[in-house]
Amino acid sequence: MTAMVHDLGIRRGHALRAAVERGLAGTADPVVGLLDVAGVEHSVAELRAAFSTPGVEVTHTFAVKAASLVPVLALLAECGMGAEVASPGELALARAAGVPADRIVLDSPAKTVEELREALELGIAVNADNPEELARIDALREESARAGRPSASPVGLRVNPQVGSGSIGAMSTATATSKFGVALRDPGALEWVLAAYADRPWLNRLHTHTGSQGVPLELMAAGVLAAYELAERINEAAGRQQVETLDIGGGLPVNFGSDEVTPSFSDYADVLRAEVPGLFDGRYALVTEFGRSVLAKNGTVLARVEYAKSSGGRPIAVTHAGAQVATRTVFVPDAWPIRVLALDAKGSEKTGEPVVQDVAGPCCFAGDLVARGRELPLLESGDHVALLDTGAYYFSNHFAYNSLPRPAVYGYTVRPDGGVDFAPVREAQTQAEVVAESGGGLPPLRRAGA
Ligand SMILES: *Cc1c(COP(=O)(O)O)cnc(C)c1O
Repeated sequence: MTAMVHDLGIRRGHALRAAVERGLAGTADPVVGLLDVAGVEHSVAELRAAFSTPGVEVTHTFAVKAASLVPVLALLAECGMGAEVASPGELALARAAGVPADRIVLDSPAKTVEELREALELGIAVNADNPEELARIDALREESARAGRPSASPVGLRVNPQVGSGSIGAMSTATATSKFGVALRDPGALEWVLAAYADRPWLNRLHTHTGSQGVPLELMAAGVLAAYELAERINEAAGRQQVETLDIGGGLPVNFGSDEVTPSFSDYADVLRAEVPGLFDGRYALVTEFGRSVLAKNGTVLARVEYAKSSGGRPIAVTHAGAQVATRTVFVPDAWPIRVLALDAKGSEKTGEPVVQDVAGPCCFAGDLVARGRELPLLESGDHVALLDTGAYYFSNHFAYNSLPRPAVYGYTVRPDGGVDFAPVREAQTQAEVVAESGGGLPPLRRAGA
């Protein structure tokens, strides 16, 4: 590996200045996503080191929904990660990125028969969400066995340990009434699960995912413990190691308040080692499915300030980054606050007295603000803003409001002399593409003549 600049913030500063200088956030494309390639490699290395245990096979998959960008998935695959996919589109992206089938896991609450058939034919691991889905898998396995092409897919069942909610309800998947998995504490559920495994000797995995952001480590570990204890019961009943693999999901929260990585992957692995020691004693292979914690801190949205104005005495910077790239922050600002840097016309951090101001986006609704009443050096037209920690679920999860185009995304690498190399990850969507995806090539709707 080439030498690199070691501090995330310093690399980001170089990249922001270079991006502005090269016009990556110019008048034609006034908003862009930037991803720190060395940072991504570092995060994956931290993840792998945290879980690495002699005698335990660990497969780290990346939750594709957190950054559905093929070159990024390919980089992660090169770093040794697999992919957790939850739709036919996400599976196609993982395959396009060259992720090997034995490192792909299909989770989704609404898998169609066609989707399941494809996964089982490809040998991709499938986690069934509910009894009806398991029955479909039974039928598909029989169909392929009859055809002389038995499926090699490992199959698991997703269970909801119902351990409770974290601070963000929409992100908490292990509540009493969550839509995900088999709710373990419901009357009769445990007996049903034990019978399901007893009836299906090939059912060899167990899956749980307790939440995404806002779930404390102890609660995540409690969910994993419940799954582990269930696996032990299944295996005891079977008189053998029927459940070979425990898929413990993702969900490590990210600190959106500073550049510090807290909690770290090793903080979480330490809690798991303390709370669920049997996970690491070599009897189980492990699968993880982290998304946000792998990429969030490695990504930045850079946008130009188009206008600076004042309303009711409140200064407002009207920028090109709003709900289309920071959807959750705009719609649920209390749950998803992000840091915003004020940058000058050259992309350097502005100095000067902090002034209470709003940082607005380009969308035509009043709530399109990425920061409200934030103290920042006063932004002026021609300046820029950087939305930090936006490497996961932000620029990669575009919201097509106002027909705003998907922005370009670049990976960046900072050389020891401070020079920056950019590599395209996704091109900005063109206006022709926006028109085409909006039915532009189709004939006009005809009047019904009523
Ligand atoms: C979203 C999701 C993940 C990833 O969650 P993060 O919070 O991004 O780590 C993992 N597994 C499943 C099943 C998910 O739905």
